[in-house]
Amino acid sequence: MDTENIKAALKTVKFPGFSRDIVSFGLVREVENTDGNVLIGVEITTGDSSVPETIAADIKQVVGALEGIHEVKVRMEISQPKQQPAAPGAGGEGKQQASATMQKVKYAIAIASGKGGVGKSTVTVNLACALQRLLEEAGKPGVGIMDCDIYGPSVPLMLGATGRPEIENDLILPVSNFGVSTMSMGFLVDDDTPVVWRGPMIMKTIQQFAQNVNWGELEILVIDLPPGTGDAQLSLVQTIPLDGAVIVTTPQPAAFNVARRGARMFDKVNVPLLGVVENMSYMETPDGQRQALFGEGGGQITADSLETPLLGQVPIDIALREGCDKGIPIVISEPDSPTTKAFLSVARQILDGLAKK
Ligand code: ADP
Repeated sequence: MDTENIKAALKTVKFPGFSRDIVSFGLVREVENTDGNVLIGVEITTGDSSVPETIAADIKQVVGALEGIHEVKVRMEISQPKQQPAAPGAGGEGKQQASATMQKVKYAIAIASGKGGVGKSTVTVNLACALQRLLEEAGKPGVGIMDCDIYGPSVPLMLGATGRPEIENDLILPVSNFGVSTMSMGFLVDDDTPVVWRGPMIMKTIQQFAQNVNWGELEILVIDLPPGTGDAQLSLVQTIPLDGAVIVTTPQPAAFNVARRGARMFDKVNVPLLGVVENMSYMETPDGQRQALFGEGGGQITADSLETPLLGQVPIDIALREGCDKGIPIVISEPDSPTTKAFLSVARQILDGLAKK
């Protein structure tokens, strides 16, 4: 029997908890069929041991059910998320300036919000994955996330980037998953360590992230700022040469006051606004009606008052939250969903905005 049949069957095996299958995820590395004895090689990067077990059982079930198959063996290669390779020439120089470790980073953009809980980290992670997809399609270098939200560093969990960053030649290597490399305080503190960071401490951490992390070659570094618009955020945006900023807001018209303060901060340091993303804009009922749970218009009002575009509206989507909780962003797990399309559209406009700079 030819292996196309088996590959077609493998396309029905979903990654546990997601609607995307293991073939489109690129996990299936080999399929061999010798007179009905099948060997399937799967390579998977995960810290959760139940994931490979479920996948192996599902493969055996669907392939074993095909006609003419006697035996199905699954060879699983399980690895921890890979480290970003060091850039050539990075070794040995020790403490470099931000410009040295970030010199192959073409653009740096900040994602900011007036307050916490608006979904800034969720937007950052999914936007980074959307940018990565577009850049990969265009054959360009990839995307990194510098998680400066050190009050609640959630990027590693949302991106499924587990493990601890390694040090090579005095430089920290970012941890990478789904092609997005990331550095976060979340790698360096335990879950139950109370993170009571004060202004100077935040600055020190961020300087480290800029100066001592080997980012390698990136088209875009997306910087998830701590929520708010105080001195800490202002010092941060002064530390890193930014090419633009994106404001995340919710749809309540009142939210516009907090977002506006954020925009003023970027104005002070001459960082151009790329636009506003409105998150949790509406919830779609099963019959296709849009319900504005958190009010309407906040994103547009904010964008108008800042004379910047409203880049998109991200719906309230349970799959988006679940993806964050499981460490597989919806942009990866459901590449065609309306929510993913909203992120792709925002990503396209950001790339266009940066190209026009
Ligand atoms: P912030 O970084 O602004 O504090 P988070 O990104 O951590 O906010 O999001 C807060 C919570 O809201 C998370 O549990 C996240 O999964 C959820 N969330 C964010 N945006 C959405 C959305 N559009 N639909 C459903 N849940 C969302």
